[in-house]
This record gives sequence, structure tokens and C-alpha cells, in this order.
Amino acid sequence: MVGRRLIKKKKTSSKKLDEIVQKARNSITERDKGYREQSLKIHPWVCGRCGKEFNRDNLHLLTVHHVDHNHDNNPIDGSNWENLCIYCHDREHQKIRDFEQYGELTSSAHQDEMPINNPFDILKKMD
Ligand SMILES: [Zn+2]
Ligand SMILES: [Zn+2]
Repeated sequence: MVGRRLIKKKKTSSKKLDEIVQKARNSITERDKGYREQSLKIHPWVCGRCGKEFNRDNLHLLTVHHVDHNHDNNPIDGSNWENLCIYCHDREHQKIRDFEQYGELTSSAHQDEMPINNPFDILKKMD
């Protein structure tokens, strides 16, 4: 009589490695998720630029911007975080890239609170 035995292979070593990789991966995403969640807790779900309001359905379009662009600077009072919709966030970074490219900061660069309603306003300030 032939006995059939299922031999389960234990992949202890590779499983351990997976755990380590997974852990490392988690720590990164947990940190990144961490400040976003904190910022969403502290600040209203409103884009700091265009004023668009967000809810649970479209909250993934609301991102957290680091005011000083230092992602390691995460004070728990939220002073370095700003909730921005993905469009304004992109524009914010584009603005900074432009300034870096042209090498000088104009006075309007610091007036972040001022909403840009008319793109021609910017052109006027440029000359
Ligand atoms: Zn916006
Ligand atoms: Zn940003």
C-alpha cells in the first residue's frame, strides 16, 4: 500500500525576509500616511488655494503640502502642513520650480495667501 503524504515545505528564511521587507515598506508609508492623516485631522478638508471643499468620496484628491518643502519637518501642530488639492499642489511646486529656474524671488512669491483669480494679474506683476 502506497501512503501518500503531503509534505509542506516551510519557507522560513524567505518568509522572514518578506517580513523585513514588508516592515521597512510599512514604516515609510506609515510615516507618509501619518502626517497626511494628522494634517487632515487638524486642518479643514478645504484646499488652501482654490477653496475647493472635500469629503470622503474625493478626499484622495486632497494632498498635504509642506510649506517649507521639507518633508522631514513635521511639527505636530501642523504649522508646516497645508491641505492643497492635487491641482493647486502641482501648481505650487511648479511655481517653486520656476523660481529656482529663474533664480530670483519676486515679491509676489511670498504672498501665498493671495488667491490667484485672474492669470493676467500675474502677468501684470511680472513687468
Ligand atoms: Zn485647489
Ligand atoms: Zn508640496
